[in-house]
Amino acid sequence: QAKLDGKDRYVVYSSHSLENMMEEFRLEADLREALEKNEFVLHYQPQINNTTGEVVGVEALIRWQHPEFGLISPGSFIHLAEKNGLITRIGEWVIEEACRQNKKWQEAGGRPVKVSVNMSTQQFLTKNTITLVQDVLERTGLAPEYLVLEVTEYMAMEYDSSFLVLEKLREIGVGISIDDFGTGYSSLNYLKQFRIDYIKIDKSFVNEILHDENDAIIVNAIISLAHNLGMQVIAEGVETSEQLDFLIRQNCDVTQGFYFSKPLTADDIEKSYIRPQAPQEGN
Ligand code: C2E
Ligand code: MG
Ligand code: MG
Ligand code: MG
Repeated sequence: QAKLDGKDRYVVYSSHSLENMMEEFRLEADLREALEKNEFVLHYQPQINNTTGEVVGVEALIRWQHPEFGLISPGSFIHLAEKNGLITRIGEWVIEEACRQNKKWQEAGGRPVKVSVNMSTQQFLTKNTITLVQDVLERTGLAPEYLVLEVTEYMAMEYDSSFLVLEKLREIGVGISIDDFGTGYSSLNYLKQFRIDYIKIDKSFVNEILHDENDAIIVNAIISLAHNLGMQVIAEGVETSEQLDFLIRQNCDVTQGFYFSKPLTADDIEKSYIRPQAPQEGN
């Protein structure tokens, strides 16, 4: 059964009852029309530099504004889109929308930030990612250093073709980030083969860093490893100031999490993080 997750009204599926299966069929059917009906929207979560306290990037996170079910989180439909192949077109829309939005913020004189976009495995490997990225950058006019693609360890290591894709992306000048680092398939081999800019420590490690000594040790080791290989570290899912303090002591570079902000609409992120501060009047 769909449950409404707090005030955000996300539809979240928790079990696999028959009712859920019916809803999945329904969602899958509706998903086919969602692009044309313009029902997808990107929210953006700020990424804060731990040294300066300034926003350095935002991660674009897709939501589906369903006419009946309300705002649906990606956890409830990305797997369907991957199953039926729609993910490729949805992924194209996400990259284009994120770049267009970032360029728009820049043109309005906002603080320049990088926008990170999540890549699905299918999109990364089956479609011509290189051509897509080049076309989108050209169409939107966004400079390549303001786009970061988030891939998973699995994408980076599992396929021969990812080597060429990642090399070419490097030539174009977009950033590469490894999402959910340490949760998948961890081979460290790819780290020496590809230029990776950022490693994102998964929130499952961050959750327990203060209470689980093993998680603290792992986080510490990931940060040293990344720094020694010339990469920056972004911690995901930071919810408390204690977690942030711990991460800062470990020299973690960038923080993303509810402690600073939930993912926000483009307008809200612009207001709170990107638009230049108007000079204070009076005083
Ligand atoms: P992800 O890329 O690892 O994104 C981080 C997720 O953690 C987001 O969930 C975000 O809202 C959530 N999060 C951020 N800070 C906190 C925190 O402090 N505490 C907790 N508990 N959660 C936090 P969201 O937006 O539901 O996205 C879930 C996943 O869906 C993403 O994980 C990503 O794998 C996928 N996804 C999102 N947007 C896209 C997209 O445009 N394309 C593709 N292919 N996948 C996407
Ligand atoms: Mg991500
Ligand atoms: Mg992640
Ligand atoms: Mg992920």
